[in-house]
Amino acid sequence: MHSSLRLRGLIRLQVQINPDTSCWEWQGQIANSGHGRMMISDAQGRRTVSAAQASFIAHHEELPPGVRVRQTCGNRLCVNPDHLQAEYDQSPQAEVLQ
Ligand SMILES: [Zn+2]
Repeated sequence: MHSSLRLRGLIRLQVQINPDTSCWEWQGQIANSGHGRMMISDAQGRRTVSAAQASFIAHHEELPPGVRVRQTCGNRLCVNPDHLQAEYDQSPQAEVLQ
């Protein structure tokens, strides 16, 4: 619990809230893919995840490996937990087939 509160604080320091869309726009590191990224440390160890994944983990729950986080607002840099949705593949082969 403490580590997720700390992670929330770290995320809040690196976002700017857009008053029109209420998107939390990531101001931190950006990966080549255009998504925000962040180093986190949790039960699964120390690793780099997308900023959206970090926010999802901090505000919602553990994110199993391989599960993607999608922005429902369409803003790739948004990390507002209310705008994030985990995408669980229906079939175990879905990832491979893409
Ligand atoms: Zn958003």
